[in-house]
Amino acid sequence: MIAYIERFVHENENDVDSNLGPDSAAELLSDLRVSAAALSDADKDFGGIQLSNPLAFLRPSDAADVAKIVRLAARSPHLTVAARGNGHSVNGQAMAHRGLVVDTTSLDCAIRVDAAAMRADVSGGALWEDVLRHCVGFHGVAPRSWTDYLGLTVGGTLSNAGVSGQAFAHGPQTENVTELEVVTGNGDVSVCSSSQNPELFFGVLGGLGQFGIVTRARVVLQPAPDMVRWIRVVYTRFSDFTRDSESLVTRPDGDSFDYVEGFVFVNSDDLVNGWPSVPLDRYASFDSGRVSALAGPVLYCLEAALHYKSEDSPSTVDTRLERLMGGLTFEKGLRFAADVGYVEFLLRVKQVEEEAKAKGIWAAPHPWLNLFVSKRDICDFDRVVFKDILKHGIGGPMLVYPLRRSKWDSRKSVALPEGEIFYLVALLRFCSPYQNGLSVHQMVVQNQEILQRCTDSGIDYKLYLPHYSTVEGWKRHFGNQWTRFQERKKRFDPMAILAPGQKIFSRNWQHS
Ligand SMILES: Cc1cc2nc3c(=O)[nH]c(=O)nc-3n(C[C@H](O)[C@H](O)[C@H](O)COP(=O)(O)OP(=O)(O)OC[C@H]3O[C@@H](n4cnc5c(N)ncnc54)[C@H](O)[C@@H]3O)c2cc1C
Repeated sequence: MIAYIERFVHENENDVDSNLGPDSAAELLSDLRVSAAALSDADKDFGGIQLSNPLAFLRPSDAADVAKIVRLAARSPHLTVAARGNGHSVNGQAMAHRGLVVDTTSLDCAIRVDAAAMRADVSGGALWEDVLRHCVGFHGVAPRSWTDYLGLTVGGTLSNAGVSGQAFAHGPQTENVTELEVVTGNGDVSVCSSSQNPELFFGVLGGLGQFGIVTRARVVLQPAPDMVRWIRVVYTRFSDFTRDSESLVTRPDGDSFDYVEGFVFVNSDDLVNGWPSVPLDRYASFDSGRVSALAGPVLYCLEAALHYKSEDSPSTVDTRLERLMGGLTFEKGLRFAADVGYVEFLLRVKQVEEEAKAKGIWAAPHPWLNLFVSKRDICDFDRVVFKDILKHGIGGPMLVYPLRRSKWDSRKSVALPEGEIFYLVALLRFCSPYQNGLSVHQMVVQNQEILQRCTDSGIDYKLYLPHYSTVEGWKRHFGNQWTRFQERKKRFDPMAILAPGQKIFSRNWQHS
């Protein structure tokens, strides 16, 4: 390790001296109990659009190591520190150009479950898929709120929100942690909760890494089911789809499905974007004769899941399911179902990952666009975006499903549109090297066109996993929360050392 850093210092002499100073460089060499990883792992992310040139990629083992790195950076006038979870951002959010990147996956990843108290203490760098396997496999319990894909770190999703089909009932992942250990931009290691250092706790959750690096989180658990009845039903009309989706997510707690999502697909036989993307197993087929002749260029699929125990009789599960589905107005005959294990259900995107890797499209660029759109404007969004700009699909899923604002604590940092109901819209574009679709550049331009059309049409939206290159953009994003966001920055990271890849504050911003 020392040899590596010596070589690194030699190769980067000018940068190290000007950024760290010779004394600090020596400290980096000898004092820090951190090891260095290959820089090439920290200069790109899942998006594949941004590239950066970090000074060092460091692998701390605990919060004390992280604090040393932050304090070291504080002694230089320019250095920044980016926590990098699994690098699954798409716009360089976990990068630090000419700064220090901290690999949080190297933190002690022991998962400590207290099943009696229904909580687990997990590292900020733990992958959610490891949390799932450990909690279910050893203790029969599981977190309540997930993301669709679990190859993401706990700290990475808590910095944003962490949203999936359970969020309508339990709130996002940020609502399902009760305590955090955080290294602030002042280099302090602090434990915080809603009653201890609450301003730090609320700030960090959804805080885009701006106020501290999460080194441990206490996650709320529930008993894990064994099985999931997974269903998909198809709609021709967006108004029917939204009415039914909203009715499912607004039923009294415990009286609905355990998971509700939805997606838009192209009304054609296109293998990736069209009818074949709907059935849940390869033996089921989509009977396009059931689609109304009046249907437009896109159709809608409501997806839901019901938990059950393996000892439940099939008729009990059927009865519960039919009661929940009674009154839904989907196209008869366009209903698909599968029974899968709970862990298999939560790891469903892992299979997509493996298939995409085999086809060479997992590592290709991902110009993704994620938005929260208010219920008030979601029909306009459908008309302007799904039925018009995206009527031929995007080469990947187009998710759209409702969430409830009352499940999101407004003291946290996430910015949301107005109204109790808003929709998550996720345009998860994949660039296939073998298809004649849009180029990456054209996809980025199309994303900009979507945002511009939303603005022109007066659609109330907020970017999820936001990215702006100007302070004006961030001010607009946070709206009346901007002052609070700045105040928290002044308090917890006054020199703006942390998460420079978000491009919100520049180093020593208060003095410039
Ligand atoms: C295939 C795929 C599927 C996805 N599905 C979903 C989904 O269903 N729902 C959803 O909500 N999101 C989803 N996302 C988005 C994902 O939640 C975010 O991109 C998340 O930031 C990725 O986690 P990461 O560990 O890779 O974080 P990184 O990309 O490494 O980091 C993201 C940001 O968080 C900061 N950060 C990282 N770790 C910490 C920490 N410990 N403490 C403080 N700040 C930290 C970084 O500095 C950076 O600013 C998906 C992304 C991908 C690629």
